[in-house]
Amino acid sequence: MLDLNCMRCGFCLPSYFSRKHYKSKAYSPRGRLSLLNGLVDGDLTLDKRNSINDILHACTLCGVCLSECPTGVPTYEIFEKARELIHKIGK
Ligand code: SF4
Repeated sequence: MLDLNCMRCGFCLPSYFSRKHYKSKAYSPRGRLSLLNGLVDGDLTLDKRNSINDILHACTLCGVCLSECPTGVPTYEIFEKARELIHKIGK
């Protein structure tokens, strides 16, 4: 499990435009963190048959979610680093 301060409160969900556009909580900061936890724990895998890569890349890295987050989780920085790692391993 990633060592994060996310308490899964959901405050980042209502105003998050990516979640609104795709109509799925997976596209919220909380949803992406859950996907990353699944990858780190080995419960999920990255491959072309699922949309995890697309979901992680749909974040615009604008950082607006940080203003909604009571614990200050820098999700956009985490997603940017995850994308960098995905590109390094060639997925
Ligand atoms: S607002 Fe922050 S603590 Fe709450 S679910 Fe979103 S990322 Fe987690």
